[in-house]
Amino acid sequence: MDEVSALRDRVTGAVFVPSDPGFREELATWVTNVEHNPDVVVGAASESDIVEAIRFARANHLTVDVLSTGHGAEAPSPANLIITTRRLLNIEIDPVSRIASLGAGVRWRDLVPAAAQHGLAGIAGASSSVGVVGYLLGGGLGPLARSHGFSSDYVRGFSVVTGDGELVTADESHHPELFWALRGGKRQLGVVTEMRLALVEMSTLYAGSLLFEAESIERVLRVWVDYTASAPDEVTTSVAVMRLPDFPQVPKPMRGKTFLALRFAYAGDAADGEKFASPLRGAAPVFLDSVGRIAVTAMDTIHNDPPDPGPGWVHGRMLSAIDHNFADVLLDLVGPQARVPFVVVELRHLGGATRRDVVGGSAVGGRNADFALALVGVPNPELFTEVLPLAAREIVSALAPWILPITNVNFLSHGGVDVTESSPWPADIANRLDVVRRQYDHDGVFTLGSRAR
Ligand SMILES: Cc1cc2nc3c(=O)[nH]c(=O)nc-3n(C[C@H](O)[C@H](O)[C@H](O)COP(=O)(O)OP(=O)(O)OC[C@H]3O[C@@H](n4cnc5c(N)ncnc54)[C@H](O)[C@@H]3O)c2cc1C
Repeated sequence: MDEVSALRDRVTGAVFVPSDPGFREELATWVTNVEHNPDVVVGAASESDIVEAIRFARANHLTVDVLSTGHGAEAPSPANLIITTRRLLNIEIDPVSRIASLGAGVRWRDLVPAAAQHGLAGIAGASSSVGVVGYLLGGGLGPLARSHGFSSDYVRGFSVVTGDGELVTADESHHPELFWALRGGKRQLGVVTEMRLALVEMSTLYAGSLLFEAESIERVLRVWVDYTASAPDEVTTSVAVMRLPDFPQVPKPMRGKTFLALRFAYAGDAADGEKFASPLRGAAPVFLDSVGRIAVTAMDTIHNDPPDPGPGWVHGRMLSAIDHNFADVLLDLVGPQARVPFVVVELRHLGGATRRDVVGGSAVGGRNADFALALVGVPNPELFTEVLPLAAREIVSALAPWILPITNVNFLSHGGVDVTESSPWPADIANRLDVVRRQYDHDGVFTLGSRAR
C-alpha cells in the first residue's frame, strides 16, 4: 500500500485499488459481461505515467495489461496491474504530410471528423467506437479492406513503453523489428502511448447497405457469391444474415424478422459506384436501400454496428474462396428456416489490397484469407458458456473445408469455442513475435498466457 501511495505521487493521472471509488468505472469495458479485477489500475494521463506504471510493476513483480475502450474484452484479464489509456486523447493532423499523431485513447469517432476537416480520412473499421490503436495493433479490416488493405499498413510509427520500462520510437529507422511486430502482432509488445498514422485524401464514398427480406436471402447470397468471384479490388462488400429481435429499439416493420444486409463500399465517384453496385441491387427486391454518396464521417453507417456498450459474444474465422457448395451448407445452417442463437452471421469479402504486405513486411495474420466469418451471439450472457459455443462449433465443423488455419487476431474471438486448430499467426511469424517480446520485456511483465485479443 505504501508503494501504491508512492506511485500516486509520481503519476499525473489516477491510480485506483479495488476499494477506491471510481475503480469499477475506470475498468468499464464495451463488452459489459467482462469484468477485470486487477490489484491496481493506472489511468495514464501522459507517457511518463505509463513509464512509472511499468517500473512500478517490475519492482513489485506484477503483470501488466492495457485497456482502452474494452471492445476486445473477452475474458477477465489475468494481469495484476491494468493501464487505461482513455485520457490520452491528443490528435494532431499535418495536412501537408497527411500524417495524424494520435494518443492511445483516441477512437475512430474522434479521428474521423478531425481528419475530414482537411478532406482526409483514416482507413477505419466498421465501428467508430473502437479504439484506433487497439484496432491497428491487430491489423484492422474495415469496410474499405479490399481497396485499401489492412489499416495497419498506414501506420508510420509508434511511441511505445516497453516491458523494460523504456520509452522508444518504433518506425522504419528506429527499432524496425518492434515496428514490424506492432503492425499486426498486437499483444504483449509494450504500451503504445502515441501513433503516427498516414491519412488518405477522401471526402465521400459510394456506400451503404441493401436490406433484403427473408424470402430473398438464398437468391441474394448466391448472386453475391458469384459477384465476389470477379469483383474489382476497388469494391468491398459483405453480407450479414440478421435476426432482429422483437425489441422496441428495432424499427416496427423489422422487429422479429430475418433479413440479409448486403454492405457495399467504393471510394470513388458515384457513377462508377452505381455501376458496380447494380448487379447486387438487381439481385432481388430491396426492402431498404441506403447505398449512395455518403460523407466519410458516415462510414460507420455502412455496417451499423450497435452504438452502445452491452453484453457481447463473437466467434470469428477466416475462409478461403467460397462457392455454391458453401452457400448450400451455410443456408442449411443459418438460413431463414434454421433456428440458431446468432443475431448476426456475417461474411466479409477480403482479398485485393489485403493480400499486399507493406515494404519491409509486417506481422499481420490472415493476409491470404478471401473471407472473414463472424458469428455474433444473442446478447444473453446465460447462453455464452454453453449454447453459443456449441452452436458455433457445429457451424465451424460444417464449414471446415473452407476454414483457414489462421484467423486474424482482431477476429479471433474464441467465445469459449475450442480453437486449437486456429491461430492468429503462422508458426514462423509467431516465433519471430516471441523473440521480439522477449527482447523488449526481459522480466515478462506482459506475459499473460494465451489470451485471445
Ligand atoms: C463492435 C465491434 C466492431 C469491430 N469491428 C472491427 C472491424 O471492423 N475490423 C477489425 O479489424 N476489428 C474489429 N473489431 C475488433 C477490434 O478491432 C478489436 O477488438 C480491438 O482490439 C479493439 O481495440 P480497443 O482498443 O478498442 O479495445 P480494448 O479491448 O481496450 O483493447 C484490446 C487490446 O488491444 C491492445 N491495446 C489497446 N490499446 C493499447 C495500447 N495503447 N498499447 C498496447 N496495446 C493496446 C491490448 O492488447 C488490448 O487488450 C470490432 C470489435 C467490436 C466489439
